[in-house]
Amino acid sequence: MSQNQTLFERAQRVIPGGVNSPVRAFRAVGGTPRFITRGSGAYIFDADAKRYIDYIGSWGPMILGHGHPGVLEAVQKAALEGFSFGAPTEREIELAEEILKLVPSMEQVRLVSSGTEATMSAIRLARGATGRSKFIKFEGCYHGHTDSLLVKAGSGLATFGNPTSAGVPAEVAQHTVVLEYNNVAQLEEAFSLYGHELACVIIEPIAGNMNFVRAALPFVKRLRELCTQYGALLVFDEVMTGFRVGLHSAQGHYAQLLPGFKPDISTFGKVIGGGMPLAAFGASREIMKHLAPLGGVYQAGTLSGNPVATACGLATLREIQKPGFFDSLGAKTRQLVEGLKTVAAENGVPFSADCQGGMFGFFLLPELPQNYKTVMTTDCTRFNAFFHGMLDRGVYLAPALYEAGFVSAAHTDDDIAATLDAARRALR
Ligand code: PMP
Repeated sequence: MSQNQTLFERAQRVIPGGVNSPVRAFRAVGGTPRFITRGSGAYIFDADAKRYIDYIGSWGPMILGHGHPGVLEAVQKAALEGFSFGAPTEREIELAEEILKLVPSMEQVRLVSSGTEATMSAIRLARGATGRSKFIKFEGCYHGHTDSLLVKAGSGLATFGNPTSAGVPAEVAQHTVVLEYNNVAQLEEAFSLYGHELACVIIEPIAGNMNFVRAALPFVKRLRELCTQYGALLVFDEVMTGFRVGLHSAQGHYAQLLPGFKPDISTFGKVIGGGMPLAAFGASREIMKHLAPLGGVYQAGTLSGNPVATACGLATLREIQKPGFFDSLGAKTRQLVEGLKTVAAENGVPFSADCQGGMFGFFLLPELPQNYKTVMTTDCTRFNAFFHGMLDRGVYLAPALYEAGFVSAAHTDDDIAATLDAARRALR
């Protein structure tokens, strides 16, 4: 029996399903999860000492690859000074300043420890600031496992959402409206029905939790107009896209295409912690003044702004600001995506793919899907065969067809070439 199997059996005795976060269990693709012993640059190594080219990067944070020397040094220095104080530190100000410098839509930011906390707090802040309860989310977008966000579409626009998780009371889901991504007509109808009751609309601007689906420009434009017209706040959940799709995140990308565009509240995570538990939410001073200790919206955390996590995040943010960082990362990711398309075409496999910065997605579908329903028309048996074909050949892709992929600065041209070679053989 392989070490991975031995560990998985042992894990299942003490941890539900053997994992501490569900998608790690390989439920969708079948087989034994790989237990990782270490990472180095673009590679991770499993308990059987097998090496993989890593396209998960801890689901986004590891934009510099594993064990970047500058980040390691910052973390080691911070750890020597103390793990946690429960009192303010200068490094929290430095990280906040660094984030705000790169995201002009925000004037203030609050640091938390996970993306779930960031989006949960953003929704509470939007409700507190507007005095309204309802909000809109989109099908296929994931915003963490807060009760009111674990909701799927109801049976019609006049009905509210249904919980997607046991343990979430219908009463909690009753204020969540779930709409189809990229559907302008549905959005307009929802606003005309209850626009004045909406605290906010929360969206993944490039949805990485249904693989890789961009919010179309006319959709984002109309969404911004409607939010402004009805006094609902627009929340950009950039936990995944933040500092990953570009130095100014997805909102920077949309602001280039729609001059003057900005969301009202933004959430970040993953890259801003560089692999340590760190996330954030921010907005204008006017909105953030509602937050405790200034205002009545309560939010707190024992480990918020943790000194070791902030050191890791700061070192990471400084690296990605070096000249040419995103040009090079974007070019490498495009090289991967274009290469995969070519390999698929050579083998007559229906295939589409897209990327932005260091984030990518591919579909065993002839055209890029625009919403969750279309993403889920993918033949999962074929996807799973491709996933395992790649894994066997030392390429670690996301173990589910509805997850995005990530390239790091540590991936080399040779890694991309080896990946395409593996894909050529797997697709055959
Ligand atoms: N929002 C988005 C867009 C995410 O992708 C995720 C996690 N994948 C979250 C929120 C939740 O973040 P966390 O897992 O850190 O709680």
